[in-house]
Amino acid sequence: MTQQSIDLFVIGGGSGGVRAARIAAGHGARVMIAEEYRVGGTCVIRGCVPKKLLVYAARFADEFEDAAGFGWTVPKPAFDWATLIANKDLEIARLEAAYVAALERAGVNLVRSRARLEDAHTVLLEATGERIRARHVLVATGAWPDLGHPIAGIEHVISSNEAFHLEALPKRVLIQGGGYIAVEFAGIFNGLGSEVTLVYRGEDILRGFDDDVRAHLHAEMERRGIRIVTRKTVTAVHAKHGAFSASLSHDEIVEVDKIMFATGRRPRVSGFGLEAVGVELASSGGIKVDGYSQTSVPHIHAVGDVTNRVNLTPVAIREGHAFADTVFGGKPTRVDHTDVPTAVFSEPEVGTVGLTQAQACARLAKVDIYKTSFRPMKATLSGRDTRTFMKLVVDGTTDRVVGCHIVGADAGEMVQLVGIAVKMKATKADFDAVMAVHPTATEELVTLRQKAVSYERQAAE
Ligand SMILES: Cc1cc2nc3c(=O)[nH]c(=O)nc-3n(C[C@H](O)[C@H](O)[C@H](O)COP(=O)(O)OP(=O)(O)OC[C@H]3O[C@@H](n4cnc5c(N)ncnc54)[C@H](O)[C@@H]3O)c2cc1C
Repeated sequence: MTQQSIDLFVIGGGSGGVRAARIAAGHGARVMIAEEYRVGGTCVIRGCVPKKLLVYAARFADEFEDAAGFGWTVPKPAFDWATLIANKDLEIARLEAAYVAALERAGVNLVRSRARLEDAHTVLLEATGERIRARHVLVATGAWPDLGHPIAGIEHVISSNEAFHLEALPKRVLIQGGGYIAVEFAGIFNGLGSEVTLVYRGEDILRGFDDDVRAHLHAEMERRGIRIVTRKTVTAVHAKHGAFSASLSHDEIVEVDKIMFATGRRPRVSGFGLEAVGVELASSGGIKVDGYSQTSVPHIHAVGDVTNRVNLTPVAIREGHAFADTVFGGKPTRVDHTDVPTAVFSEPEVGTVGLTQAQACARLAKVDIYKTSFRPMKATLSGRDTRTFMKLVVDGTTDRVVGCHIVGADAGEMVQLVGIAVKMKATKADFDAVMAVHPTATEELVTLRQKAVSYERQAAE
């Protein structure tokens, strides 16, 4: 069979791969992209998008309850899981089709196949046996749920992949994990009416986030009836009459209808020839790349979760775009991985950008902390027992706002905009100079007058 020869072969049709393929084609490159499952990748098919749709569904529970304090009489609401999942699936199919159409419009050749590297310039399409010669290869294979050390009964455990396709809403769910996916699914199942137990081996949920955020979200989740068990792990799972029992660190048994592990994700680096062509891995387990996403093998680049840098969709997209501009657009572009704003769609939501208090104290000579916790206005009439938390971390030497952390309704929306100010190196005085928008929750961020605490590093004696 004669080999096709192209400029770029992209392995993986997710956030990073699709963006890179489209932009490279726009620069005039002949591009082929291989996707072994569904176009759109994790974000569209079993990540951000379906997750946020389930979050919206779960939040209606509060709306129905809260309406009473505002004079509404709402008949007892009933929820139908099958309707939600069917509607979610329709939306995902629509989005997938939009991704495919965008690739076609850009002139990218999409192949539905698993791809395997045979050498640094040859890719085998497993579906057809065809071999493609490519001047450049981009690895954008993403990551996969990691269920941790195998335990007895692990075959009964689901990951987030399966959670999107459950046949019925489980009455009782145990989620193991303390990262953002674990707390988001805890909020989803809790809002939809399941009894939720969250088991986390560490000291507190959301490791790596600001400590005040972690404590505030923990308290809010418990207030909503989620049971959080820390410093324990699931050591065994047994199936029992259609349900399951989970042993927690050998000293407690929890009976549930579904067990989900959200214990991390592992970059997809094996089984498609990377080792054979000599692509080096970093200590994080991801593909080792430089600032331009180039691997240790010339002409092979890697972007997105497979590089295990900042594992978020907008970052994968930015990396894919920068790669295409660098290699095919004549415009070498590095991606700035600092001050990436991010949200956790827990209930309540978390929005965060920049340094945590602990990081600032470790890096800066002087740190000022401004923070507030208040009852959101809506909760006054609804009577809901909840508080919003906001914190600014300020460099005490330059007055620059180096971190912002919010727990409360719409925190993700707020922090997207605060991210602009942080990226522009706005100072606390700049925040103070902005007129408040009243009555909003965000106005608290421009009216924080009192320092909660100041830290100053003592000069070494
Ligand atoms: C439950 C969940 C919720 C999330 N929520 C958010 C969120 O709210 N916000 C956010 O920013 N990020 C979120 N993320 C993370 C986000 O989805 C990822 O960071 C993003 O999808 C990474 O894009 P990628 O291109 O690196 O990989 P992916 O999108 O995973 O794409 C990789 C693609 O490569 C394909 N593939 C793999 N190997 C091969 C092969 N050999 N041949 C052919 N195809 C192959 C896979 O099938 C996949 O489609 C979430 C993730 C999960 C799991």
